[in-house]
Amino acid sequence: MKQIEQKIITGQIKVVTGLHIGADNNKIEIGGMDNPIIRNPLNNEPYIPGSSIKGKMRSLLEWDLGLVENSKGKPCSCGREDCPVCRVFGCGNAKTSQDNAQKRGPTRLIVRDAMLSKKDSDCFKNGDSLVEEKSENTIDRITAAAMPRPIERVVPGVCFDFEIVYRVIDIDGDNGKTDIVFFNNTVLKGLKLLQNDYLGGGGSRGSGRIEFINLKDQDNKEITLEEN
Ligand SMILES: [Zn+2]
Repeated sequence: MKQIEQKIITGQIKVVTGLHIGADNNKIEIGGMDNPIIRNPLNNEPYIPGSSIKGKMRSLLEWDLGLVENSKGKPCSCGREDCPVCRVFGCGNAKTSQDNAQKRGPTRLIVRDAMLSKKDSDCFKNGDSLVEEKSENTIDRITAAAMPRPIERVVPGVCFDFEIVYRVIDIDGDNGKTDIVFFNNTVLKGLKLLQNDYLGGGGSRGSGRIEFINLKDQDNKEITLEEN
């Protein structure tokens, strides 16, 4: 086994419809709202955890590949070297992971936390209202009265800096060929599926649509998701 290259993809995630990635309930401040978003504790700015992006990509790919049928709702943990999901995203089952570690190699994909973009771009620049408090209503079936509950969302137009690192590894002298194939049909496909779906909560009610913009690789070559 030998590492052939590290592909580094950078760009931005642009919020298209209000984004709600919820904070841990224990972190809610007294007097704060019921459904706050996650924030960077150092500067209180909203951010998107890499785990949210990676987890959603993986889940959408498992649906796309038909791996959810016997999963009991859990992530694929077959650990096989030809399973794009376990190979690219990692295998969470200690036994299958260990049994096949030599053939499968290490987890290929790292997804960084996406922090609020400071770059000059087409993104939202008015620093004072990055978030909104949106009210969502349940309608009382008898009286038709609205029963509101507030949720916090990052407003459309805000951008976050996006970075993923993908390791291409030579296994059994294939010169990284399999990993290159998986980069195209799994990683780029996952980004495309995510862009067509949503991030965070409330997706079926309109929240969480995002767009990947200004994507490029480590050689400054533009990456498009269109053909994936
Ligand atoms: Zn698997």
